[in-house]
Amino acid sequence: MRGRNDKVKRGQYGLWALRWRVGARAQAPGTQPKLLLSVVIITALTMTACSKEGSVVTPSTAAAAAVVKSEAAAPPVKETPPPDTAPLPQIDAKRAFEYTREVTAFGPRYMGSENHKKLERYILDHLKGDEVEEDAFTVDTVEGKFPVRNIIAKFPGKKDGIIAILGHYDTNYPLRNIGYVGANDGGTSTAILLEFANQLRDESKRQKPGSGAQGKLRDGYSVWLVWTDGEEAVREWSDSDSLYGTRHLAEKWEKDGTLKKIKALMVMDMIGATDVNILHDSNSTAWLLDLIYAAAERGGYQSHFYALGAEMQDDHLPFVKRGVPSADIIGMPYGYNDVFHHTAQDTMDKLSPRSLEIVGNTILETVRMLDQR
Ligand SMILES: [Zn+2]
Repeated sequence: MRGRNDKVKRGQYGLWALRWRVGARAQAPGTQPKLLLSVVIITALTMTACSKEGSVVTPSTAAAAAVVKSEAAAPPVKETPPPDTAPLPQIDAKRAFEYTREVTAFGPRYMGSENHKKLERYILDHLKGDEVEEDAFTVDTVEGKFPVRNIIAKFPGKKDGIIAILGHYDTNYPLRNIGYVGANDGGTSTAILLEFANQLRDESKRQKPGSGAQGKLRDGYSVWLVWTDGEEAVREWSDSDSLYGTRHLAEKWEKDGTLKKIKALMVMDMIGATDVNILHDSNSTAWLLDLIYAAAERGGYQSHFYALGAEMQDDHLPFVKRGVPSADIIGMPYGYNDVFHHTAQDTMDKLSPRSLEIVGNTILETVRMLDQR
């Protein structure tokens, strides 16, 4: 949250500071206008929304104080980099939306279910010809044993290092009997990764042919796409009942040395809501969040990023704990007051291809910017 000194971003911080000052003032009864109160309510309910993760939210009053301080200080002397004229990456948003529809149409896709197996096959079918690895194992949970399978597609690059992009494809076991289909939560994360695979595949085809396999390498870092399993709790969210897939994968990658090679790791989660708002997650790595914001600015998408802050527990946590630069790209609240999150109303009609485009283009642009570092 620190180190943003340029004028465009200061405006955004100002808004944040305002929210929190408003929140503080609203403690005194009878002093707050209705409009301001509604801002407080939104903020408070966002906290509740995130308590699915069992954690407390967010940008602290200390952060607001830091904003005031940074505004008062003289601007730092910065070297002006040459203008970046590279075209913005462009996903096929219609296709990504169609993937979301197809994934959602499988129905509830909780661990151990038939639909889950069908979805595994669907993902693998879309990765034919790619380098694919699986991380399959069994977990023992409070609801019994479940098979878990992370699916990893690798797009090798010429630079030494890995950019990992993760998204979960399971839906919630406790919601299996209420017709819960997780269009946004589980559907969009699965779909955007399939579209990223298309883009990366096309990109490597465009590379100039070199000697042998070299011709198929992307110009930057290797990009690994990971469809994670068992992100959701089987009963109630806790450290031991959540993140089954990524806890296993992080441990495995720690042992085999992969973690040291990861330059950045980004988690896609619930990114398709019509009015998508990507949270500023305080568990994420600050420089990576800043880079993602800079990528969003290049597309003119920045108003969809970081209006609200929270401390998120998501698939990035097992990697954050091991020192990997990581960011959780999560759209919350999902609907006013987060009303659609983990309910039977998490359906296709709440989503928009435009939101997939905004977030998808931003993350591919972030990959391009990472490649240049
Ligand atoms: Zn969820």
